[in-house]
Amino acid sequence: MPVPNFETVEVTTDLLICGGGMAGCGAAYEASYWAKKNGLKVTVVDKAALDRSGAVAQGLSAINMYLNIGNGERTPEEFCRYVRNDMMGIVRQDLCYDIARHVDSSVHLFEKWGLPIWRDAEGKPIRSGAWQVMISGESYKILVAEAAKKALNEAGMELYERVFIIEPLMDGDRIAGAIGFSTREEKIYVFKAKAVLAVMGGCVHVFRPRSTGEGLGRTWYPPFSTGSSTYFTIRAGAERTCEDIRFVPVRFKDAYGPVGAWFLLFKSTATNALDEVYTETRKPDLAPWEPYASTKPIPTNLRNYQGILEERDGKGPLLMRTERAIAALAEAYKGDEKAFKKKMKELESEAWEDFLDMTIGQANLWAAMNIRPEQMPSEITGAEPYFIGSHSGANGCWCSGPADLAPAEYNWGYNRMTTVKGLFAAGDACGASPHKFSSGSFTEGRIAAKAAIKFILENNTMPNPDPAQVEEFKARIKKPFEIYEQYKDYGTTDEVNPNYIVPRQYLFRLQKLMDEYAGGWSQNYATNKYKLEHCLKMLEWLKEDGEKMIARSLHELMRVFENIQRTWQAEAHVRTVLAREETRYPGYIFRADFPKMDENFNCFVNVKWDRNTGNWEIIKRPVIYIVD
Ligand code: FAD
Repeated sequence: MPVPNFETVEVTTDLLICGGGMAGCGAAYEASYWAKKNGLKVTVVDKAALDRSGAVAQGLSAINMYLNIGNGERTPEEFCRYVRNDMMGIVRQDLCYDIARHVDSSVHLFEKWGLPIWRDAEGKPIRSGAWQVMISGESYKILVAEAAKKALNEAGMELYERVFIIEPLMDGDRIAGAIGFSTREEKIYVFKAKAVLAVMGGCVHVFRPRSTGEGLGRTWYPPFSTGSSTYFTIRAGAERTCEDIRFVPVRFKDAYGPVGAWFLLFKSTATNALDEVYTETRKPDLAPWEPYASTKPIPTNLRNYQGILEERDGKGPLLMRTERAIAALAEAYKGDEKAFKKKMKELESEAWEDFLDMTIGQANLWAAMNIRPEQMPSEITGAEPYFIGSHSGANGCWCSGPADLAPAEYNWGYNRMTTVKGLFAAGDACGASPHKFSSGSFTEGRIAAKAAIKFILENNTMPNPDPAQVEEFKARIKKPFEIYEQYKDYGTTDEVNPNYIVPRQYLFRLQKLMDEYAGGWSQNYATNKYKLEHCLKMLEWLKEDGEKMIARSLHELMRVFENIQRTWQAEAHVRTVLAREETRYPGYIFRADFPKMDENFNCFVNVKWDRNTGNWEIIKRPVIYIVD
């Protein structure tokens, strides 16, 4: 494609919601109501189409956060304790509590909109764990997107799909909007806004994935979560938290199928190849991580660590004993052949549905490998690390908490506002409040949007983005096409050229250096100061070469910016891991030079990039619990 002749489209709005995933849809739903009431305008922009965008695109088989407070099932206090233990003490309970007290109402909305929640004979939701309820969720995102679009439509608000946001626009220290380009048309979008909500999800493909060759691109978290929330908010000058806390999910090997239903609903165990239940035999290895090692459930990362040790010692593969779990569940029906057969069929179909609802590829793999879960076990293993503030990782923006719950140190104004005036965050983009998952992200989007509308009403002036900045970003969007046009005839193949780098090659370099130096799966998730410092140098050089990335289509242009944004996520991570001189999450990241937990790090290690000097700053913040 020749250098596009981009048309510039200017959009002026009150609240700009960047991202239409779970948090974005929650925000759109809530903001439409409050904006209409107050004569304001809301605009949602997403790089994809809302119906199938973000981490819920493939569907889910469970809603992982539902308290059912009304029926006395769970309390926000219990939730805060649970998250505190799973995160080895590092958590913002004010944020967690805030989501916990509101999340049920969102789940009730999902059901009202048509999402089937599994219920027992008495009508009680079927739980697969303490916080999870089972759903038939293949179309979960479609239902939620439909409701968000309806709310926007009925309130006369705007939605832009297939527009990729590349940068924030600033007016001094206040957010003033965002700039992006269409992935389908030759258009650059300049959005001016009084407040911006960053809800562009988490980050995948920073580390070399386990999948290679024809499987490349297969990851557990969606490959289209590419660090936009992190990049956008860092570049606006926002302080970030928990950038060291990446998530390493243990999943079914090669297709990353979920294990939650197996462990929690089917009550399955996992063993090593010698048929030892390694979570039992490896208990003594967790001693350095007391008191968390003795909590119930054992923190996710500690269970991972036990598996990592098994594989390191050659006792892998780790095996999910599906055949034993199914046999145990059908045991009670054994005397009655008809009932037994029926139960077995039911269990078998539940096992397959779990994958078909959210990770169809795993069902394909089972079929291709002739795996019958009722007859044989399946391999599980640790994935490459991901950055997700909504799941069991915790990185994201350092946000102001709710006025009625947050201690003074965590409250500087509007709920979920970052440290940048007018910039809000939710879902994967809001840090230190993990385990909110799909329902909690939707809920947090609602909370943040309501607060953002309040901010607009109380700060009702339109900021002016610096025009020079806008021109600079427009030039940056064009540049990858221009480089290609200038140098395309220097080589005999498009892929090898001394004057430019193809986005795919850039991605491989990023993944290799992060895997080898920042503790990817090939290193058993371990690293040290020397490696991390080397990694920073390599990232600097990669960034230099990134200036020469090319694009030959609008789709490849998106790849260019995804890579740039991922690289900033990588750098924020490496800098924070370097600063946290201890090993607190051995199953996520192991500092071999500081192999134990250190009470001097019972704190948040935050990071901030200075927009004026380009320097990074590390800031320690206290952990203050609001629940004992
Ligand atoms: P997302 O929902 O990912 O939304 C991000 C949005 O931002 C997307 O629409 C994306 O297109 C858009 N975007 C990204 N970059 C840009 C850009 N540059 N410009 C414009 N738009 C952009 N939760 C549960 O409750 N139960 C489960 O069982 C469960 N299992 C999961 C299993 C898997 C495999 C995955 C991937 C997730 C699972 N989750 C589960 C977690 C849940 O999906 C997330 O917590 C939730 O989707 C996070 O919401 P979010 O809005 O922050 O991000």
